[in-house]
This record gives sequence, structure tokens and C-alpha cells, in this order.
Amino acid sequence: MDVRISLDLDEIRARAAREEDDDVEWDDWQEVEDRWADAVALPLDRPRLESLLGHVETAVDAEGCDHGLRATDAWAARNGVPLDDLHRGLRGYGGHCDCEVVLNVDLDAVFPRVRPSPN
Ligand SMILES: [Zn+2]
Repeated sequence: MDVRISLDLDEIRARAAREEDDDVEWDDWQEVEDRWADAVALPLDRPRLESLLGHVETAVDAEGCDHGLRATDAWAARNGVPLDDLHRGLRGYGGHCDCEVVLNVDLDAVFPRVRPSPN
């Protein structure tokens, strides 16, 4: 996961350099880097993240979102996942509450599937 994320960050930088986009200020880079630093804290592998997203989606569908991470925390408690790292990791992907976890944390973005290369 670390390798993929450093590649993504390099790609963002390279694209900005090509476009010589003066709109991008240092503060924006700092924010991007902070978000990646949070994202790499996510203490889950793909099957566990899939399990979390399924649980939270079911809970949000049934009970709605109380603008907190109640369903996320309930899943974490059952699965022995440390809350600090989990919250930090989810925040890195834009998951600040249960409904945002469902909306913003995309399984295939966090763990891209390896596709067979076309011949
Ligand atoms: Zn919410």
C-alpha cells in the first residue's frame, strides 16, 4: 500500500508540473500530503475493509447517519480494530462519519484490483 500511495503522489506532482498550474499553492500540497498520511494509517486489508463497508452501509440504510462513526465503531469493536488508526485512515479517504464512509471510501480505490493486461 505504501508503494502505491507514493506513486499516486508522484503522479499528482508530475501532472501539476506539466500543466504549470499556478493555482496550486503549497497549502494545497500540504493538504494532499496530510490526507495521504492519514490514508496510509488505515489498519485494514481488503477483506476487512469490505466487511466494514458492508456493515456500515447496512446500518446507515436501516438507521441513517448520526454524523458520527457509530456503526464503524461497532464493527471495529467486534473485530478488534484500533479506533485511532481506523478513524485516521478513514478520514484520509473522506470518511468523517458513517454515511461518508459509505459514500467516499471506495474499496477499489483503496485496494485497486490488478487487471490482466491486454495482449
Ligand atoms: Zn454522515
